[in-house]
Amino acid sequence: MRLISHPILCNYYVTYRCNARCSFCDIWERPSPYVDLHSAEQNLTALKELGVRVIDFTGGEPLLHREIDRLLALAKELGFITTLTTNCLLYPKWASKLKGKIDMLHFSLDAPTEKEHNESRGVDCFEFVMKSIQVGKELDERPDIIFTVFENNVDQIEAVYHEICRPNDLVLILNPAFDYNDVDTGTVMSAETLEQLSKWGKKPGVYLNEGFIQLRKDGGNHVSNPVCKAASSTIVISPSNELVLPCYHLGIKEIPINNNLADLYRSEEVQRLVALEGRLPECEGCTINCYMQPSFAVEMNKYWWKALPSTIKYNRIKGTWKELVGSYI
Ligand code: SF4
Ligand code: SF4
Repeated sequence: MRLISHPILCNYYVTYRCNARCSFCDIWERPSPYVDLHSAEQNLTALKELGVRVIDFTGGEPLLHREIDRLLALAKELGFITTLTTNCLLYPKWASKLKGKIDMLHFSLDAPTEKEHNESRGVDCFEFVMKSIQVGKELDERPDIIFTVFENNVDQIEAVYHEICRPNDLVLILNPAFDYNDVDTGTVMSAETLEQLSKWGKKPGVYLNEGFIQLRKDGGNHVSNPVCKAASSTIVISPSNELVLPCYHLGIKEIPINNNLADLYRSEEVQRLVALEGRLPECEGCTINCYMQPSFAVEMNKYWWKALPSTIKYNRIKGTWKELVGSYI
């Protein structure tokens, strides 16, 4: 049963550029401009009209945008919940200007040691993550650690949890890796690893969307009966000010927004593409978390029920329960 028929999330790609070179990501290979403030202002107003509640300022590395503080401030002024994930290379420089503007701030960290984390990210950023934790705490920000889990680093969760998250009172978000296009993250997660992840998800201070685990056990999205609601739950905007459909990762169509996002989104052409969400040949087996998370939130099915306890847990820890309820009505 569909619970929410309008989009609830916007993945706003402020640039595709990145100052890291993660082995499991190809976005940094794309040439890219930066979004301009004027079109962002118009788009945010349109997103409000369309019923979107959460803006994820993403990339690439969103802190490479020289006016990211102004973009966040605009979104906050319009009453959106904001979220941003950073590799931390630039966070210490930006921190004071970003204070209070990001509701869900995530620092990426996939290993407890400098050598392993830097190898995975292709740049020396471990020290910057540690520095960012310290700076964030000094500013009374409440960052989370987001740990991208692969078959070969699941054993590292323990040390990140005990040595970094718990002593600093940080939520550990477990983000199971996913394949897309030509990006191959290695072997498919074994049943044993999925079990281990589920156990971790029950620990205090750990957030794991159990819907992600169930989806992997079920072989991902199936085109015959798609769980994916990417395009009807999420609006994707590119750095060149285009509407990307049905999701960033597939991106079969990029339509210039031309200052009229609300009408464009409601147009026949766009709604025809929205209807293809989860039904294209490439959609078979898809487990892309960025779209499955909102997909689970808008339709009541077994993934909705699986996702519910972790959603409640996270919002309880973060004290964002009120905003959460507001975002789903
Ligand atoms: S930091 Fe993020 S955007 Fe940059 S290369 Fe890594 S995963 Fe991709
Ligand atoms: S199933 Fe995956 S690839 Fe297909 S539209 Fe949904 S998120 Fe995109």
